[in-house]
Amino acid sequence: MAGETIGFCGLGQMGRPMAANLVAAGFSVRAWNRTRGKAPEGAQECDTPREAARGARIVVSMLADDTAVQSVTLGEGGIVGGLREGGTHVGMSTISPALSQRLHEAHKAARQHFVAAPVFGRPDAAAARKLRIVPGGDEQAVAQCKPLFDALGEGIFPMGTAPQASLAKLCGNFMIASLIESFGEGFALAEKAGIDPMRLSETLSRILFADAPLPKGYANRIAATSFEPAGFALALGLKDISLALRAAEDLRVPLPLASLIRDNLIAALAKARDKWDWGGLASTVREAAGLPARR
Ligand code: NAP
Repeated sequence: MAGETIGFCGLGQMGRPMAANLVAAGFSVRAWNRTRGKAPEGAQECDTPREAARGARIVVSMLADDTAVQSVTLGEGGIVGGLREGGTHVGMSTISPALSQRLHEAHKAARQHFVAAPVFGRPDAAAARKLRIVPGGDEQAVAQCKPLFDALGEGIFPMGTAPQASLAKLCGNFMIASLIESFGEGFALAEKAGIDPMRLSETLSRILFADAPLPKGYANRIAATSFEPAGFALALGLKDISLALRAAEDLRVPLPLASLIRDNLIAALAKARDKWDWGGLASTVREAAGLPARR
């Protein structure tokens, strides 16, 4: 509800515009980030995650990876120590199902709730309040987050428990990465045959992806070899594919395509492409075909 205090931890490419949207929606935002000075205008900057969470019914975290989320939640000065009894930690980072389960247990022991609410959408979608949110956790706690989710995105797609929601996000990113890999291969083949990649991208976008902005966007980026600046960085992509592989190993599900993609991401990162978007996965495929990483 507007006017309500919300804690917000993590003001990176995604978190900062999200926190700004909460301010714009009338929430009173108490923000924390490891590097100071990133709080959006109108938010109150806090010294620790615990302070950001203090007194709030809801605290959001939007951090890079498992290590960050674990330390910001359970470490010294962490969220668990500040959140009130009955309060909810809404974890919107893409993390492992195993950590989601641990956070559920830790918050439960403190008489709090953990809702995993990973998102689909890049920083531009975060800024435009167009995120798609996939929440998992206690049904009532998820329902109470609706005004928060409405201020951040344009679709809420509940997905069972917190670890199930975290895994659903990893499955989604694995599928997107598979698309990038196959587009990289297809466009490399076309380019070597002398076909204009931009013309092919426009053609296939009309024939195959008429109403699908996501494949259209990747086809265009890969055809144009436009990999900078990163919306979703290669290193974060490697994190997600590695998490998907770990979950798949636990569940005894072979993911041969994910293994291939993981190696191709590593090959791109070995060439110091850390600042590239994960569409740059296609550069590995291009080089294997004797093409330059970028035209
Ligand atoms: P980002 O720009 O790299 O921001 C990462 C954030 O995590 C920063 O606030 C950073 O703090 C903080 N952080 C990193 N390591 C930390 C640590 N050890 N302790 C405390 N804080 C730490 O990443 P992003 O693109 O915003 O992504 C955030 C999350 O959203 C990730 O889980 C990502 O997978 C997910 N996601 C991203 C996208 C996308 O398109 N970018 C889309 C959907 C989901 P500093 O400012 O101090 O470095």
